[in-house]
Amino acid sequence: MSIPLLSLTIIFACITEIVKGFPETELKGGSSHTWQKLLYCLMMRCAIIADIHANLAAFTAVLDDIERGGGVEEVWCLGDVVGYGPDPHQCIELLRQYNHVCVAGNHDLAAIGKIGISEFNPDAAAACRWTARQLSPEDVEYLENLPLVIEKEDFTLVHGSPREPIWEYLTSISSAKRNFAYFRSQFCLVGHSHMPLVFSLDETGTCSSSQFLTNIGLTLGKSRLIITPGGVGQPRDGDPRASYAIYDSEARLVRLYRVPYDIDATQAAMVKHNLPVHLVARLSYGV
Ligand SMILES: [Zn+2]
Repeated sequence: MSIPLLSLTIIFACITEIVKGFPETELKGGSSHTWQKLLYCLMMRCAIIADIHANLAAFTAVLDDIERGGGVEEVWCLGDVVGYGPDPHQCIELLRQYNHVCVAGNHDLAAIGKIGISEFNPDAAAACRWTARQLSPEDVEYLENLPLVIEKEDFTLVHGSPREPIWEYLTSISSAKRNFAYFRSQFCLVGHSHMPLVFSLDETGTCSSSQFLTNIGLTLGKSRLIITPGGVGQPRDGDPRASYAIYDSEARLVRLYRVPYDIDATQAAMVKHNLPVHLVARLSYGV
């Protein structure tokens, strides 16, 4: 999508919000002036989070970090809100307090019996059975209604991959390159691998990958990108800190953040609930 068309789309969305009665309290400075409202919409910031995995301490640390950084207008969640961790109900409840969109992950659907657990390893399956017993009827209804794919502006949001939203892991250039044919927008956001990565397809059709690092903002230019923000509740890149990203629509930038959290608290809760020891231990190492 071209930038002028994107701008028109955002302006139209903003006007729609204003007509509906955009909340005064969400406006910078509390002004009711229409142009300031439009400007506010054009300067939208979104948090991109994935794989919370029922880790309330990690999720809370991420949300606190977002607030410290100035907050966001919307949270984009790439699935696996539950599974593995000790706080599935609390994490769903907390996420629902935010203005957010969320796609379904394999653990979300397995916890409500919408997909089977035959593909899960024994530890994941045990955690899934425990998770299912912790969910309220409202939690089940929420997870049941999560879509597999969401399109926001020039981003497509999925859990696994655009080709296979539930199960495919995008960790190699070859699989990423094939997946660019399966979404229409310029950018795609994926979770599932729990690894902060960026795959880029340039105008010559060359695909490359790079680690998504905290100290370098990712500028959105002409290349098509598949971006994964790493995992909030169970990072797997050797860094145990929670991982998430912020999209700044005005700066056309996506930036990665890592946040320390109380790993001991999550591990103690997992031990209390007899969750598998391997799942407890891996949080210490970010694997
Ligand atoms: Zn996951």
